[in-house]
Amino acid sequence: MAKSKPILPASTNPKDFVIATLGSHTALQILKGARDEGMRNLVICRKGQERPYKSYGVADEILYVDDWSDWNESLEEELIKRNAIIVPHASFIAYVGLPRVMKMQAMYYGTKEILKWESDRDMERQWLEKSGLELPRVFEKPEDIDRAVIVKFHGAPGGFGYFVVKSAEQFYEVKNRKYPEQNDYALQEYIVGVPLYVHYFYSPLTKELEIMSFDKRYESNADSIGRIRAEDQLAANIHTSYTIVGNIPVVVRESMLPEFFEMGEKVVEVSKKLTGKGLFGPFCLECIVTRKLQIYVFEISARIVAGTNPFVEGSPYTALRYKEPMSTGRRIARDIKQAIEQGRLDEVLG
Ligand code: ATP
Repeated sequence: MAKSKPILPASTNPKDFVIATLGSHTALQILKGARDEGMRNLVICRKGQERPYKSYGVADEILYVDDWSDWNESLEEELIKRNAIIVPHASFIAYVGLPRVMKMQAMYYGTKEILKWESDRDMERQWLEKSGLELPRVFEKPEDIDRAVIVKFHGAPGGFGYFVVKSAEQFYEVKNRKYPEQNDYALQEYIVGVPLYVHYFYSPLTKELEIMSFDKRYESNADSIGRIRAEDQLAANIHTSYTIVGNIPVVVRESMLPEFFEMGEKVVEVSKKLTGKGLFGPFCLECIVTRKLQIYVFEISARIVAGTNPFVEGSPYTALRYKEPMSTGRRIARDIKQAIEQGRLDEVLG
């Protein structure tokens, strides 16, 4: 998929630019972050979804679309006219679609090339393996299942429809009954431990890796099954599901921090060998930590994740490093602002 080149304005004044994003996911903190850094912002909303952006008063301008499929050249022209720099998030990629993101001429914060490494399961695995991370085992076919596995349907947003089985027989029973049409799935070893999402930020300007925060997810019904006794769980024949509803902040054992820094550093280092500019900006390693404190990484998100949302006013970690409240949204805006001021905008655009 060829990538188009953005047209870069010559100005070194951040006030000549606008930080833009789609009205969903992490838009509130991205918009507030832009404001906090003294930049203008803009949010593109699907009609009827604008209420939070109006109610919280975080947006300088709202552009409307009837549907995300209306993302077209005239909308992009509006963005280009305003010198808008798009900050992508997971909903942006999902709604606009990878092919259109690659073709987009409006300025885009982050590396577009890394998206293909992240969106293809095999390429993502290669990247993480090369980074020396511990990954859950993958099973080629249901007949190979010899332990608890988590079944993941490709493209299922927010863990929707995932289920856990421990034999081929169980797999076919659930799949054929509930998802007869779905044939694109991955079978991943189910790691027993606690899920932990590490929020990183790597600036191509400072060449420094920061850990911004950590979260865990609030998932339905994985996080509610324990509210009824085992007997009732069996009687109700509940299959565990992982539909994400929200995010909960976490502070980790301090002795684990060096390892988390190293993991993030390796991922960035390897990404530079995979694509020109490599991975930069916010990203997240999605981990399970076992009782022996082994860290398994089951996924990487090469952009801001919703788990950073509890930290609009910064996290315990950013409080150590910054004098002002520093959300991931604000950290992005700062990177953009500094790049503009230093005449290095091309270094932060994909
Ligand atoms: P997103 O793309 O938004 O990150 P997703 O739909 O890809 O989400 P995952 O993050 O892959 O979903 O997984 C959903 C949940 O399933 C995780 O939060 C975690 O609780 C659980 N999970 C995923 N993989 C494993 C695994 N290998 N072992 C144990 N639990 C897992």
